[in-house]
Amino acid sequence: MNAAPTSTSPANRVSAGTIRPSLPDNKTVDFDAVYDGDHKHTIVEYPKASNKWYILCCDEHSVHFGANPLQGSSKHLNGKKHGYQRKDFDLAVQMLGILVLNCDAEKAKQNNLMFGRAWDAGYRPLGAHGPKASRTLEKTQDGTSHDRQSSVPTTTPARQEKPKCFEGVTEPTVGEIYRVWYKPKHAYYSALMLPTGSFDPVGMAGGISETGLASCVPACYHSARKTKVILGWAEGYEDGGPRVHRRRFPMMFFDDNLIIPLEGDLGIPEGKLFSWVFAKDLRPFNLDDQSVHGSRAARAFCQRAKKMARAESYESHGLSPKRTDESVPS
Ligand SMILES: [Zn+2]
Repeated sequence: MNAAPTSTSPANRVSAGTIRPSLPDNKTVDFDAVYDGDHKHTIVEYPKASNKWYILCCDEHSVHFGANPLQGSSKHLNGKKHGYQRKDFDLAVQMLGILVLNCDAEKAKQNNLMFGRAWDAGYRPLGAHGPKASRTLEKTQDGTSHDRQSSVPTTTPARQEKPKCFEGVTEPTVGEIYRVWYKPKHAYYSALMLPTGSFDPVGMAGGISETGLASCVPACYHSARKTKVILGWAEGYEDGGPRVHRRRFPMMFFDDNLIIPLEGDLGIPEGKLFSWVFAKDLRPFNLDDQSVHGSRAARAFCQRAKKMARAESYESHGLSPKRTDESVPS
């Protein structure tokens, strides 16, 4: 397991100055993209206590790393494919590190717990051995969790545009309530699909610009650079596009403490209730389903919406309400 002695190592031929520069836009990634991405990664703080968070990937050989990416990646660089570079965490981060933006210790921990669960469920990083090898690994794993490392370089770039069993919703309706899978709590919450501009259509004051959602518009949208106003779908995310299933939607979560007034004005509720939700995490919601968090507030919201629609249509047309159902997606 010892590294080759530095004095005779061919790594000496490769000085830091000749390191292949990675493309700049490959060098940072948003935390959400790591956490929700198809590939799982362990996030490491490097150097320790620096509040700089990284994942490590070798794009050149399509290799990702396991539970100890610093060790895995430096071992990978020390291999034949990289000319036996010296085993050095600084070098590994410099060459293969991708800075994770909007990350902190708590988020990294959450992500890494998720990685551990995925690993236990059979997930292996890109370039690792298949399920056969992993079974052997599990057998020999007792006490040596560091061996959960996978740094075996193979070339199996399995890029999958469409998930095998996509059960999400790619075209949710504004004003309707959905069931949303909330990973950190491992539970479904009820949430309202919001408009991407003014909240008028859902009977709420204000708009997206007042919620904090506007400060981090996901890549699936085309938005005005200065004002952050959402103008439409980005390329590939439009209806019928190859990335439709990777869309994210502005949603307001209902929690059980949220009081929804049945009439009168509804302002933007306090608390961290707003989020960009992935299409894959959306499910139709049956209002009677009490096992879903926030269903009481969700029912109140629907009652309110019905009442308001009724009042509005009486006022403007003298007709019966348009929205007679419970706004439950079928
Ligand atoms: Zn490599």
